[in-house]
Amino acid sequence: MRGQSSPRSSACLPRHGRRAREDLFLLLHSLSLLRRPEAERDEAGGLPLRRVGRLVAKGKPTGTRTGRIVILGAGLAGLTTALALARHAIPSTIVERAETLDEVGAGLQLSPNALRILDRLDCLEAVSERAVAASAVELRDGRTGRLLAAVPVGSGDDVAAYLSVHRADLQAVLADAVRREPLIELELGEACLGIDETADGVVLHSWSGREERVHACDLLIAADGVNSFVADHHDEKPARFADAVAWRGQVSGPLAREFSGRARGITAWLGPRRHAVAYPIRSGEVVNLVLAEKVRSPDDANRQRTLDAYRDWAPDLASLIANANDLTPWPLKVTPSERRWVLGDGRTLLIGDAAHALLPYAAQGAAMALEDGYVLAGIIASASDLLTVGPAFERARRGRIDRVRKRASFHRFVYHLPRPFSLARDAVMAATPKARLRDQLGWLYDWTPPGAA
Ligand SMILES: Cc1cc2nc3c(=O)[nH]c(=O)nc-3n(C[C@H](O)[C@H](O)[C@H](O)COP(=O)(O)OP(=O)(O)OC[C@H]3O[C@@H](n4cnc5c(N)ncnc54)[C@H](O)[C@@H]3O)c2cc1C
Repeated sequence: MRGQSSPRSSACLPRHGRRAREDLFLLLHSLSLLRRPEAERDEAGGLPLRRVGRLVAKGKPTGTRTGRIVILGAGLAGLTTALALARHAIPSTIVERAETLDEVGAGLQLSPNALRILDRLDCLEAVSERAVAASAVELRDGRTGRLLAAVPVGSGDDVAAYLSVHRADLQAVLADAVRREPLIELELGEACLGIDETADGVVLHSWSGREERVHACDLLIAADGVNSFVADHHDEKPARFADAVAWRGQVSGPLAREFSGRARGITAWLGPRRHAVAYPIRSGEVVNLVLAEKVRSPDDANRQRTLDAYRDWAPDLASLIANANDLTPWPLKVTPSERRWVLGDGRTLLIGDAAHALLPYAAQGAAMALEDGYVLAGIIASASDLLTVGPAFERARRGRIDRVRKRASFHRFVYHLPRPFSLARDAVMAATPKARLRDQLGWLYDWTPPGAA
């Protein structure tokens, strides 16, 4: 049911399916919270922009040829898009369901392609203060800890090393920049519950916990993550479980400082059907730990079984695992590669994980979210007609995202090889010069944001 106000929400309810969301809608409707009397509709049949009963219209006309832009989601993609739009003097409103932007997520690796965007947005210095620079990704044999290869990861330019950072620290820097920017309105604590497409534009209905709010816009940028409400509203197939979970935990105290002091950056231990990754964050005070493993269903994730599986792995890793706090399983989800990014009549776009949630094995999800936001803002700034934005965005981004998706699958295949294939892998890695290992990722890391620096 495209283009109609939708009761479906991934925002404030667990995803019990369409039925539960329809029940919510009926409940809100019976309480008059979603009712829009005919007399209160504007001439185009859309919602009026002023206060109507309990509806509060928040969209503000911008007076620019770009029209009014609403961004759903203040994650990495949403915040980056708003900041990049502001660089082009384009105002936007971000609608985010969380009341505060705090400790969500765990560690992230930020490769040079992502860091160049942070630099363009004047956020790199603040992020670097909370991050740790890496010179290499070390690939090690899981059981023995033997070094198989050290892939150099920095870049030749003076902007970008390779950083590891807590997602919350990165989001806080972006959010601080957003709050300082007068062209951006940040509306927290509003969960999107419905969308209407009218002749006049797109109308987003959100629920603040007390009242419904209405944001009318000419372009809706949905940066609402892997379980995107907007994709669901437009009947896109949901993200699917990728037959894997990542246990995420953190180590602090002397062990973390000692590991951070000698690590050259990111360390990955490889083994059949599973691998582990550790890297320092929070200026080296904390080590982020990820244990990725293949499972048939999210319910198969079993803490004790996972701990047992790593028992005879390298001593360094075993002691990190033994000292990790809150090891928590994250089911890994990927969006179908054929998911459309331009929805409805062309005025709704998906970006970031909402468009293309990827396996984290190439550590590029956040980087692609940042790239999407920056590239999209440039396209909007130079578009004479908003309807050309979606196709131009797809042309600019699909090829690169597909290539990253393939790379992440390749890493999964190579990292999880069983014997004897892993022996061949190890021999090839040992024989490959470091520079060549780095060159294989040149297309990814050496990417430069479009437009003038
Ligand atoms: C185990 C693991 C390890 C990872 N490691 C890395 C890494 O090393 N490097 C890397 O680059 N990436 C990594 N990633 C991926 C990265 O975290 C994501 O790709 C990235 O955070 C996606 O950003 P986003 O802005 O698209 O979505 P999100 O960060 O998920 O943001 C979506 C926002 O939308 C809001 N929202 C959702 N629905 C609604 C609604 N209905 N109404 C209002 N607001 C709504 C949410 O509250 C949220 O703030 C990893 C992921 C996993 C699972």
